[in-house]
Amino acid sequence: MKKILIIYTGGTIGMDYTAQGLTPVPGLFKSQIDTLDPIPDVQLDLIEYEELIDSSDICLEHWQRMIKDIADNYEMYDGFIIIHGTDTMAYTASVLSFALRGLDKPVVLTGSQLPLVHRRSDGWNNLIDALFAANRSDLNEVAIVFNNKLLRGCRAQKVSTYRFFGFDSVDEEPLAEFGITMNWFTKRWLKATRFSFAPVMPKPAKILDLSMRPGFTTDFIIDTLNNTELDAVVLQTYGSGNIPIHNLALVDALKAAVARGVIIVNITQVIEGRVSNDYASSCLHDLGIISGCDMTIEAALAKLLVLLSNGMSIMNIKAAMSENIVGELTES
Ligand code: ASP
Repeated sequence: MKKILIIYTGGTIGMDYTAQGLTPVPGLFKSQIDTLDPIPDVQLDLIEYEELIDSSDICLEHWQRMIKDIADNYEMYDGFIIIHGTDTMAYTASVLSFALRGLDKPVVLTGSQLPLVHRRSDGWNNLIDALFAANRSDLNEVAIVFNNKLLRGCRAQKVSTYRFFGFDSVDEEPLAEFGITMNWFTKRWLKATRFSFAPVMPKPAKILDLSMRPGFTTDFIIDTLNNTELDAVVLQTYGSGNIPIHNLALVDALKAAVARGVIIVNITQVIEGRVSNDYASSCLHDLGIISGCDMTIEAALAKLLVLLSNGMSIMNIKAAMSENIVGELTES
């Protein structure tokens, strides 16, 4: 008999309509999944968090709890499903992807756009596909199941607030597609690691996401870089990783931050594509800025968080930020 542990954190899927709007209702999700036909030879267990949240409330402590719950139950279960709100699911999936080092079992996140209490909920479909994915003994990674697809967790992003097509991973093909048949693209899956499971507990870190916007943000970014105590910055740049290099105050502020030991990672704010050094304005290496290649903002922030929590040196973190660890980026 295989065993799958469902960790229910909150999110629309288990919410109900109240006078205050959609709210998680304790016990409701369990009563609904109890109506599912049992899957032969699979035992499902459920941990429901005492405080069910809308995932916009997610914080470091929730990630620590999820990692601890997976670690404490790791040997007892063949796979894990995390039921999560969609708003920050991609952030959690990214944090877990880096934090669950040496993972050799599936950890599948899912949720829905419409709650299970709604007649047309997409939650049933997502939940059942997630059960099949969590039951795969050859899936060694953190993934998101949504709208008939299995996506790599550290590549996925929320792309719609109202379509059932709520998530996509534009720079990485899906890991599976579920139609009349379930198509598992196993060649794209991470290979089982040689290392044993050794999760990293994320710790508080001063990481800032700064996005370049023409005409608005440069002074603010300069001021923030010059006057804030920071461990790391993810700089969301234009196009292929471009910044206004003729703005000397900005260039000086970036150089000064790097000199003070702040790790600055360049990712593009464009949805598809990567940081290159095709343009004079994207050659930021000389400024000491690290290329984040084609990482999503969620992955870049999560990777910095976990590497900083792991006590690595600044030099090693900088090197790791451009290296592929769990399929989060395509090295050039
Ligand atoms: N606000 C909800 C949440 O993230 C949205 C959802 O689950 O779809 O918890």
